Amino acid sequence: MTPIRLALVGLGKIAHDQHAPAIAADPRFELTAVVSRHAGLDGVAHFARLDDLLADGLAIDAVALCTPPQPRHALAHLALAAGKHVMLEKPPGATLSEVEDLRQVAAARGLTLQATWHSRHAAAVEPARAWLAERTVQAVRINWKEDVRVWHPGQDWIWEAGGLGVFDPAINALSIATRVLPRPFFLSRGLLHVPANRQSPIQAELDFRDTAGAPIRVELDFLQTGPQSWDIEVDTDEGALKLTDGGAKLWIDGKLLHEGPDREYPGLYDAFARLIADGASDVDTSPLRHVADAFLLAERRVAPAFDW
Ligand code: NAP
Repeated sequence: MTPIRLALVGLGKIAHDQHAPAIAADPRFELTAVVSRHAGLDGVAHFARLDDLLADGLAIDAVALCTPPQPRHALAHLALAAGKHVMLEKPPGATLSEVEDLRQVAAARGLTLQATWHSRHAAAVEPARAWLAERTVQAVRINWKEDVRVWHPGQDWIWEAGGLGVFDPAINALSIATRVLPRPFFLSRGLLHVPANRQSPIQAELDFRDTAGAPIRVELDFLQTGPQSWDIEVDTDEGALKLTDGGAKLWIDGKLLHEGPDREYPGLYDAFARLIADGASDVDTSPLRHVADAFLLAERRVAPAFDW
């Protein structure tokens, strides 16, 4: 079997922490090149820009785009135009229209486009989906509260337009909710707190309802110190489900029912290899749609200025 020759574009935190190890551990991939303005990886061809790699003629089959969302569409377009399969880190773009454009270009060229949602590969997500599929959801509470200074130190792009602010992590919660909740849900109202010196929210409270009227309360905080929470609680007609640790653990009525090792990024690369083999794409924009809805519908309040 010839491995898929892959280029990693944007060598930041997630590329180092997750992509490089997941690629190294999967024999279906070979890391052929990295594209980074500032760094390289030992033993791997390095280019400062994606255009330079594509012009060089080095044979690659696919790219994984690990930059912030703002430059992602231009890079993905370049790669698809050059006939490469594309993996998009989350969120898949800065706007929904960009992602739709990429979907159409990939389809027209017969290439694989994967909009990744790593949290959907957390160990307890599929067990939670299966459990909820057989019950009636009555109410949902999502608490995604983390300290931006700990998890995103110095990442100024998060605060710029298109960087999503607190929705950068919270879109992971929405990627899980859209996977495990049996019915579609819609935003009814919300509040976004945007620091006076920044462009994107630092806190948010959102109220959704599903199509049967069950309330879904979402509370997001980027200033959480002490215990961090990446939790989803679901009340049903047959007990209470809780997903904690970003989807790694599943609790039913307070008892731990399921947990497993972290296989989120190996899961993404497994899915990418399968999509390429099948000539298919996977471009679900539902988590990004909910974020876009929040930016469209929620009230905005000016919050105290934020500095690192
Ligand atoms: P990061 O540490 O800031 O790295 C992003 C890299 O992208 C930079 O090192 C830079 O690499 C490159 N880049 C290209 N254009 C850029 C631009 N205009 N502004 C800033 N950087 C640019 O960010 P990250 O945490 O790896 O996040 C990247 C993406 O992965 C985001 O969409 C994020 O939501 C997603 N993600 C992050 C995490 C996490 O835990 N951090 C988890 C899951 C997903 P070069 O200098 O090498 O070009």
